[in-house]
Amino acid sequence: MNVELTKEFRFEAAHRLPHVPPGHKCGRLHGHSFRFEVAVAGEVDPKTGWLLDYGDIKAAAEPLLAQLDHYNLNDIPGLENPTSEILARWIYDRVKPALPLLASVTVRETCTTQCVYRGEAGSS
Ligand SMILES: [Zn+2]
Repeated sequence: MNVELTKEFRFEAAHRLPHVPPGHKCGRLHGHSFRFEVAVAGEVDPKTGWLLDYGDIKAAAEPLLAQLDHYNLNDIPGLENPTSEILARWIYDRVKPALPLLASVTVRETCTTQCVYRGEAGSS
């Protein structure tokens, strides 16, 4: 029985995108109520009836919130160009060591936009 579990996290942060064309609104410093979703996938343990404890996802992702919440993302090493794409990979790379079943990280900057990162092909 193969399943995917997701858990969502939220944080508030500022950012500006340094490489957009002149005059683009994202080039100005602004804030978002960011949300990101961590997904793990795999086979359900027939005895426990679960894939893993949601608490394990929380334990893996929560330390990142302390680094992101109420900061300017541009100031964080690795997020000098904090697009949703780069932020999703930044989170993925930091959660993966503690969460080998990690399948994807989805970043939502707004209510209507999202970016899904599933790791690089061929790496795991
Ligand atoms: Zn933005």
